[in-house]
Amino acid sequence: MKKKLTIAIDGFSACGKSTLAKDLAKKLDYIFIDSGAMYRGVALYCLENELIIDAEPLVDRIIENLNHIQLEFKTIDQQSLLFLNNRNVSTEIRENAVANVVSKIATIKDVRQKLVAEQQKMGEKGGIIMDGRDIASVVFPRADLKLFVTADTKIRIQRRLDELKNKGITSSFDEVAKNLKERDFIDSTRAESPLIQVEDAIVLDNTNLNREEQVEWVMKLIEQL
Ligand code: C5P
Repeated sequence: MKKKLTIAIDGFSACGKSTLAKDLAKKLDYIFIDSGAMYRGVALYCLENELIIDAEPLVDRIIENLNHIQLEFKTIDQQSLLFLNNRNVSTEIRENAVANVVSKIATIKDVRQKLVAEQQKMGEKGGIIMDGRDIASVVFPRADLKLFVTADTKIRIQRRLDELKNKGITSSFDEVAKNLKERDFIDSTRAESPLIQVEDAIVLDNTNLNREEQVEWVMKLIEQL
């Protein structure tokens, strides 16, 4: 039997990481985990429980509340859905209100420790593809394949706008552009496990690749492992 691989996918916001991870997981019959959804889940909990005031997280109170935040992925109708304390929040976590605060929540060390521990547990047996910002550097530093995904900024904004539209969420090009810029800045400059391109990562620029082409590109790499 072939070894079940661990595949780490990192990169800036809206580069198509989750789409790639999802497609690869389907092809390989692996588990797919969108780690960003988990940070979004924590951000949603904080918004709903008044742990963020005027877009500023109340860090001490958030840390006190971490034990009350239970996140779980369930696959229903071939879709990976995120449940926050047993409630399906898969659409809500994509709302602008969450996107606007999630990167601040993701700078909190205790939040990261909790989610990284849960992510590592999910990957214990291999056969997993996880996308995020610290997957190759922190979550699975010994992953069999590490990808760093990039794409042209305008293409990224347009893809995110299309994704939101498909989910019935209204936004504008400028609003998405501003949010991506802010998040990329916070994510790559924070003290706690910032987004980095690790030395042994392979860069995938998917600006001119469609969904099928990017999967083929990675499948060729996997065949050579
Ligand atoms: O992947 P997505 O854009 O949904 O992630 C939302 C936010 O969660 C990111 O902008 C980042 O602040 C945070 N995140 C993180 N580490 C990860 C995944 C996401 O800090 N592994």
